Amino acid sequence: MTDTKKKRKVRLVPLLLICAAIVTGLAGVFFIFNRHEIVIEPNGENPSYVEYGENYQEEGAVAYYHETLIPFLKKELEVKTDGTVDVKKLGEYPVTYSAAFHDLNETLERKVIVRDSVAPEIKLTADPDGYTTIGHKYEEEGFSASDNYDGDLTDKVVRTQYKDSVVYVVKDSSGNAARVTRTIVYDDRRGPDISFPQGAQEETAYIGSQWINDYYAEDDVDGDVTANVQVEGSVDTGTAGDYELVYSVTDEHGNHSEITRIVHVVPRPSNNGAAGEDSKTIYLTFDDGPYAYTEELLDILARYDVKATFFTTSAYPQYAYCMALAAQQGHTVAVHTTTHNYAYIYASESNYWEDFNNQNAVIAAQTGSYTNMFRFPGGSSNTVSANYNTGIMSRLAAEANARGYVYFDWNVSSGDAGGTTDTNEVYQNVIGGIEACSNAGVPSVVLQHDVKAYSVNAVEDIIKWGLANGYHFSALSPGSYAPHQRIAN
Ligand SMILES: [Zn+2]
Repeated sequence: MTDTKKKRKVRLVPLLLICAAIVTGLAGVFFIFNRHEIVIEPNGENPSYVEYGENYQEEGAVAYYHETLIPFLKKELEVKTDGTVDVKKLGEYPVTYSAAFHDLNETLERKVIVRDSVAPEIKLTADPDGYTTIGHKYEEEGFSASDNYDGDLTDKVVRTQYKDSVVYVVKDSSGNAARVTRTIVYDDRRGPDISFPQGAQEETAYIGSQWINDYYAEDDVDGDVTANVQVEGSVDTGTAGDYELVYSVTDEHGNHSEITRIVHVVPRPSNNGAAGEDSKTIYLTFDDGPYAYTEELLDILARYDVKATFFTTSAYPQYAYCMALAAQQGHTVAVHTTTHNYAYIYASESNYWEDFNNQNAVIAAQTGSYTNMFRFPGGSSNTVSANYNTGIMSRLAAEANARGYVYFDWNVSSGDAGGTTDTNEVYQNVIGGIEACSNAGVPSVVLQHDVKAYSVNAVEDIIKWGLANGYHFSALSPGSYAPHQRIAN
């Protein structure tokens, strides 16, 4: 053995020992620090969001098994997914992913949040030709609001009106807000309205009567523009004829209005009594209708070929057609009132004539002609008008006369307005009154109301009695006997 060989042997042994120690150390470290684990990684975001009502797409997860100190050696594992998401209900839903390998188990939870992040929608209704008249308040044209989650939210819209705009704001139950602004369009496209407060667009005046050229013009922006009205034409009540007047006016924004009025100047009817009128004449008159009993009344009158007079109102406009029927059957259709509202019509002369003209227009529409015959609500002797305007009955009666209008009170009261509700009593009151008039040498003008069934029911017996006792029935005409009660106001 040489020295050299010995030396080498000596050096090799510790080296091997050191190596063995290192390997053992490393293996120890490896076994101490290396871990066996399952890793689950969700696809997409966690938590993930889905909009209310929209489809939920489960994105899934991937899982693998590995040892932590040799991460490049992965084994993919099958993932089990558990959990349901109800997109029709707001809230948080857990979705659980799990994977297993030998005796290892791992789970991961994903939070799925069903939320409502869509704002409601506000829709404005707008009239394409709509505008707000200058100086007037904007009138809401309409709006609606709906939400994908809350449904109709129209009631929840908060509207704030400014001078030139309207702002609409609404919030849904999840706090999403919508806001819409409407710009208000101001304009003036309408000319003034020309009206005839105490007359009509087509009216009759009697020769020798006083005809008043009254008119009024009001503009929706400028107000009263009566002073700017130009009138072309004139009326000569001294000469019979048809007179045409043209009223025109232009407002500040150049809108022009024009209206033509026709005045028929005709001879005044004779007041010497109607043909064949005598103390055996009965004028049946019916006030306050037409109403539900009027057609039945017309049938009764037709059965006996009896003509009567209707002082009409527009209290029951659905029966207005009865005026046309009555006129066709030869009855007289005259004015009582439009409203029969004492407090209104007797408050002023202009109220009275406006109400009168309105009813006369209804009569003209139904019968084809205007009338100059009327009966005051309550009669000319009513005292209730004094509560509203002292002395008005005297002034209205004088004005009626100046205009050539004839009013009729009555000299036979049936009592059906309050005295009785009994058909036989109505009958007795009427025939008693007729006999008294006949004995006094005057025709009978009988007051009944065709709005009372018990009064209408007495008519047939009254007619039978009259015909059996030598009376004859007639409809009032402008020249008929017109009993006038004493005006007391
Ligand atoms: Zn009446």
